[in-house]
Amino acid sequence: MLHCYIVKLLSAMLQKKKIILGLSVLLFLLVGIFAILIFSKDKSIGSVPSQIATSSTEIRVQFFGDIMLDRNVAKAMGAKGLNYIFAKLSPTSTVFTGADIQIANLEGPFAPTRVKTSKSIAFRFDPKLAAQLKSYGFTAFDLANNHSYDMGRANVAFTRETLKKAELGYFGDELKEGSELTFVTNTVAFLGLHNTYHELNWTKVKQSIDDAKNKAGYVVVNIHWGEEYKRLSNKKQRDTAHRLVDLGATAVIGHHPHVIQEMEIYKDKPIFYSLGNFIFDQYFSKDTQEGYSVELTLDEGKLKDIQLIPFYGVKSQVQLMTEERKTQFLDWFGKNSRLGAYIIINGIISFTSTP
Ligand SMILES: [Zn+2]
Repeated sequence: MLHCYIVKLLSAMLQKKKIILGLSVLLFLLVGIFAILIFSKDKSIGSVPSQIATSSTEIRVQFFGDIMLDRNVAKAMGAKGLNYIFAKLSPTSTVFTGADIQIANLEGPFAPTRVKTSKSIAFRFDPKLAAQLKSYGFTAFDLANNHSYDMGRANVAFTRETLKKAELGYFGDELKEGSELTFVTNTVAFLGLHNTYHELNWTKVKQSIDDAKNKAGYVVVNIHWGEEYKRLSNKKQRDTAHRLVDLGATAVIGHHPHVIQEMEIYKDKPIFYSLGNFIFDQYFSKDTQEGYSVELTLDEGKLKDIQLIPFYGVKSQVQLMTEERKTQFLDWFGKNSRLGAYIIINGIISFTSTP
């Protein structure tokens, strides 16, 4: 009798277990479907890694200036590729902060073969390097510069495809502006604007910033502009930067002059006029072989702090500046920048205590 009761009880428990198991599977499936729905809401181009995982609301984004992987850079790299470029870095002396998002300006296209062109300076990057860029932590590249179309229109598409295959994002275009060119993550949207020989369509710029604001909390504008080798910004850059901030940009990141230019904090928003070269072969001057990276820490809809990471290159090999060289750079930078009441302390500008 007792035996019979135990058997009944056991079978009832087993039945219950099956129901619990069934419910668990159902719950798991629902969570999965929900996650897919969230992941797929992003419709921007080049949006492969659109979901940036963070443990808190704080997000760190690191920006670099111009990357050029042709000419003497290609010769110096040889078969090592980017491993040559970053061979002088170490875990204790690196330019990479391990930020959630890592962005740079890709100053030229990937192309399977070199294309004949009438351009006197035309770059072509080996497509194999895309996977290596990914391995060094990059998230997306700005393509809005004066070299994107160097290997023709077809290779602009090829560049995007190559980046996509390497699970890298991209944004901007050499010849046009538009919302469809924005790279949108779940937290930050990135716009790429080209303003060297190309004039901006402000209606489209405004629309792009407005659309980006609706999709992400922060909108960072990368812009290719200014005069080559000039250490200070010109009036056009300053007017353009102010207009971008007035339209809602969280920060403005500039490049193209091949040298570092000053920064400005306008209406509590940072404008970096030129980050200088990151990877290039302009070995003819100290200025063209120095650059800096900037990391923005964003939290609860606001900029929390900025970190400046100055570096230099020797035959395109990137190295972190020594303390002495960093001090020299920061002295020049501090004296020439317009920071209002903000101050740079050891390369960091804090925004948490509003001046
Ligand atoms: Zn350029």
